[in-house]
Amino acid sequence: MTTEAVFQRCIHPHCGATLGVDETAFACPRCGGLLDVAYDWARLTPPKSLRDFEAKWSQRTDPLSFSGVWRFRELLPFASPEQILTIGEGQTILQQADIVAGYVGVQPGKLFLQYEGQNPSGSFKDNGMTAAFTHARMVGARRAACASTGNTSASLAVFCSATGLMRAIIFIGSGKISYGKLAQALDHGALTVQIAGDFDDAMQRVQQVSRRLGIYLVNSINPFRLEGQKTVMYRVLEALRWEAPDWIVVPGGNLGNVSAFGKAFIELAELGLLKRLPRLAVINAAGADTFFKLFGQANLRWEGGKPAKQTIEEYYRHLDAEKIRASTIASAIEINRPVNLPKALRALDRCGGVVREASDQDILDAKAKVGAGGLGCEPASAASVAGARKLRQEGIIAPNDRVVCILTGHALKDPTATVAYHTTDQKTFEEVLGTRGVRRATYANRAVQVPNDLDEIIKAIEVYS
Ligand SMILES: *Cc1c(COP(=O)(O)O)cnc(C)c1O
Ligand SMILES: [Zn+2]
Repeated sequence: MTTEAVFQRCIHPHCGATLGVDETAFACPRCGGLLDVAYDWARLTPPKSLRDFEAKWSQRTDPLSFSGVWRFRELLPFASPEQILTIGEGQTILQQADIVAGYVGVQPGKLFLQYEGQNPSGSFKDNGMTAAFTHARMVGARRAACASTGNTSASLAVFCSATGLMRAIIFIGSGKISYGKLAQALDHGALTVQIAGDFDDAMQRVQQVSRRLGIYLVNSINPFRLEGQKTVMYRVLEALRWEAPDWIVVPGGNLGNVSAFGKAFIELAELGLLKRLPRLAVINAAGADTFFKLFGQANLRWEGGKPAKQTIEEYYRHLDAEKIRASTIASAIEINRPVNLPKALRALDRCGGVVREASDQDILDAKAKVGAGGLGCEPASAASVAGARKLRQEGIIAPNDRVVCILTGHALKDPTATVAYHTTDQKTFEEVLGTRGVRRATYANRAVQVPNDLDEIIKAIEVYS
């Protein structure tokens, strides 16, 4: 047993192995399970009231109070202030979105979008990266690596280049990585290793390579990353004056976000800081729906820390036997072996969670509605809105429930999908979207084609506006 106030602990209560805060293996040495960053709150100084955080707004010239992650540092107290590395992440907004509320089917004023595309690298990953990066420096790392569908690598590249403190090594699959994200990795000088395989292959390889070469791993298997991602929920609560909404709806890829959100709420409840917890809804893409299949159909549950391993292994054997590969336009969640699966089960157990899947058609239609409603997101993010709509249609979400959908990444991450959806050019639509079962651009905003002639241009504008 460790005697420190901050330590790492196996998530499985029947194992309960603990490790020091400076370990970097990120797997339980006893059972191989996932680890949590754990706190002995009695020996720390947690906040007495969540409202106290509002005072931080008056200290915005202090970088730690400015950061949307570290102004909540009493709730993730694994680093001392002088160890923290911040680039101003987490300056994000919760926006009421009535056009999207209409689409989802809840009353005006009841639907909110948490816009994580506002982060320095354009996705929520920066919330976690600042925490992992801080831990990497605490343990003296010189190189940091990740496998990525694009946004983790963009975030790592930005943190490495902005601080000059570490070399970024990025593993990507040979399939789709959107140009916006690849551009970031290259532009920010990351060593980019493209593997002939998909994301799940790259994920396995990066773990092997990091172990062999002693490179610090920043994938969401890293429990310090999830500490940073807890703060997305603190900001949502803050924007709602510390009253939990009825629902948090989030896209599910590696399931790091939902795991972090669950941990945030479990801890706030433990500390007596939040009376009523929101329900969590995780939305898979239909082409990458392991969590939906296991939770929704095979009835896999947390079971007090003993989820049925056999059910999971059987399902993965089935994927291998049938050569099923993840495939969706929502490339950020194109993942069939989510590394945080057990943590996600725990989160859903404690927060009355549900899992749904959304087709690429529904995801792109929802994305167009989000765009028309004022905020631009990438396809994966819109899965949250598509999923909320489905849950509303099923009657699981009520018309007067307060719903927060997490927009995980910025629209400019993947302009290809957006342009293909709105394009007048049927060939482009077919090439980019047709192979994924997208048949119609329900809310397309097509460009108007006109001859280069003043009268014709004026006529077109009069007709269409
Ligand atoms: C990483 C990512 C996701 C998936 O999040 P997980 O925590 O892996 O479930 C969803 N959307 C975007 C834009 C992402 O970058
Ligand atoms: Zn263990």
